[in-house]
Amino acid sequence: MPRGFAGDEAPAAWPRLPGTPRPERVALPVDLLPGVGPALSKKLAKLGLNTIRDLLEHRPHRYEAAVPERRIADLLAGEESAIAGEVRRVSVRRPRRNLAIVQARVADDSGEIGAVWFNQAWLADKLQPGTRVRLRGQLERNGFKVRSYDLNGVSATADFAPVYPASEEVTPKRLRGLVERALPNARDLPDPLPAPLKAREALPLRSDALLALHRPNSLEEGEAARRRLAFDELLVLQVGLARARAGRAEAKARALGEPGDLVRRYQELLPFELTPDQGQAIAEIDADLAREAPMQRLLQGDVGSGKTVVALYALLRAVEAGFRGALMAPTETLAEQHFLTIEPLCAGLGVPVALLTGSVKSEFADARIVVGTHALIQEGVELEDLAVAVVDEQHRFGVEQRKALVEGRSPHVLHMTATPIPRTLALTLYGDLSVTEIAKPPASRKPVITSWVTAERSSEAYKRLRRHLDEGRQAYVVCPLIEESETSQARAAEAEAERLRRAELREYRVGLLHGRLRPAERRELMARFKARELDVLVATTVIEVGVDVPNATIMIVQEADRFGLAQLHQLRGRVGRGAEQSYCLLISRAHEELTDNAKERLQALVDSSDGFELAEKDLELRGEGQLLGTRQAGLSDLRFVHWRRDRPLLERARAAAEQLVGYEGPLADEVDHLFSGEGVAA
Ligand code: ADP
Ligand code: MG
Repeated sequence: MPRGFAGDEAPAAWPRLPGTPRPERVALPVDLLPGVGPALSKKLAKLGLNTIRDLLEHRPHRYEAAVPERRIADLLAGEESAIAGEVRRVSVRRPRRNLAIVQARVADDSGEIGAVWFNQAWLADKLQPGTRVRLRGQLERNGFKVRSYDLNGVSATADFAPVYPASEEVTPKRLRGLVERALPNARDLPDPLPAPLKAREALPLRSDALLALHRPNSLEEGEAARRRLAFDELLVLQVGLARARAGRAEAKARALGEPGDLVRRYQELLPFELTPDQGQAIAEIDADLAREAPMQRLLQGDVGSGKTVVALYALLRAVEAGFRGALMAPTETLAEQHFLTIEPLCAGLGVPVALLTGSVKSEFADARIVVGTHALIQEGVELEDLAVAVVDEQHRFGVEQRKALVEGRSPHVLHMTATPIPRTLALTLYGDLSVTEIAKPPASRKPVITSWVTAERSSEAYKRLRRHLDEGRQAYVVCPLIEESETSQARAAEAEAERLRRAELREYRVGLLHGRLRPAERRELMARFKARELDVLVATTVIEVGVDVPNATIMIVQEADRFGLAQLHQLRGRVGRGAEQSYCLLISRAHEELTDNAKERLQALVDSSDGFELAEKDLELRGEGQLLGTRQAGLSDLRFVHWRRDRPLLERARAAAEQLVGYEGPLADEVDHLFSGEGVAA
């Protein structure tokens, strides 16, 4: 009998083919690498680096540029360059407390020079005479100022050496060594892309991309590698979103037909004309509501751009068709604010509205519109006949809460967010939603004039604030941000309000709003402020969203440099809500105490009041790791995407994703993995 060319019987186990990925290897904890003990692995964990894979995917935030290597005799003052030589002598000086200067005489065959390091006294031991060094830096008056160095071997000073996000505890140099040690495992990471797709998109292998990311031969090579890895991430995200869309295609909502009499009366009742953007939003919503497929629309617009007016329109569409509408807000304060805005309008239309939060349960059996927090859903309130649900500040909700709202029914859903998201990002985050933007606020509104002063001029700021109060206007003072806890934040705000009552705001009625107030107290406080029984509201960031008092025309933000850009923009949106010119005064610490980043943030606010523009700026300043402060677990997993640059890549990933919804394989596993966590809109 002829023997088969591989033999007749299969062996019990096939030998592993060389080059086959072993994914279990990259899942191993970092402390399996030589030289990584429990102490270091704890510090690495703080950087989010737990496994070998995390190290492999730790993206350099930049690369060292190429510099010429010079002989010491040929060094030019001020030019960044590299030298190589041998240490002759070393010394440490401590001219001041907190300052240590290490100085080493380094020689090559052309000459000798003093190399200088600041605050790295421990280096002196390593720079013993005879040590071979390669140094990058520049020649300055006092010698060669070292930026990076290699002792006995080249890596940190090489051209295009990666510079990693590091921490005070783990230096970039240390990280470079660790990544270096993890790199041989790059081939063990499975490549999720189907081969035909890789060919069509002309993408390199993932393992090659990882190698090139950490050791590029040029900046272009590093960038091409990053793009390949970003494409993976975008594709995984888009496939997940495409699946969600496909899943929903089955669901049916009530088709609500054409707009009727109630919404016509509503528009007549409004004391203003709708803006073109509002009109457009309403037209899009009407088109959605006419269909049986449940609406899934994201309505995004800046604070005060008039989203609530549009949201109420959608709710009334449900009511006039004989069903109910629900408006869900992430906090009680916000739910109450919405209730206060909506209720009078609805009263004018004869539509009963109920408020339903953890602490307030008004009678809602007859209500046609229910406004509430998630208590609305958590406590199992049966909302029969729900046809339209509006979800405010949608990024604050977890997937679970949003799912619960629509559980068992398929209402039309309008998601609202006042955090403007650049369009690229919106498509990425909410790729399963249709997006409507209200870009232009009502014309009657003048942009808030923002100025930035440092603390030593704060008395002038308060003088201006008092001038507004004396003219019968109202004001906000935002307390410094305290990170620790809501309780300490509240305590600090109390102390600050007390201080202001005795000092700058002695002659005025000052109320205090913070997150520790009971809902009833908070409601009463807001009602008093609205009724002008208080002149000033001293507040923590709880006023960030929802508070709407058009007579408040000036705001002071203390220690504004502690706040994020998006947050300051949101805070500022509390003023400028009426026709009067409004002002926002940002008080920061002294210039010397501010980081460049803080200065840029504050200047950006002075320069622009366009939320979308600021959102772009925010992305740029914060980098891609932290998106708009959203607590979206899945999104912090996106390490390689560059939101501004990758728009074309995103479009390609979206197109490719459509064909991959039912694809089984490593890609599908990654999609499952990403979407198993909280947070990605699904
Ligand atoms: P958002 O919900 O986007 O923050 P709101 O809907 O609460 O904005 O509107 C902010 C303020 O602007 C409210 O006082 C509202 O009455 C007013 N407003 C809304 N639309 C218009 C408009 N078209 N013209 C004039 N004022 C408007
Ligand atoms: Mg609003």
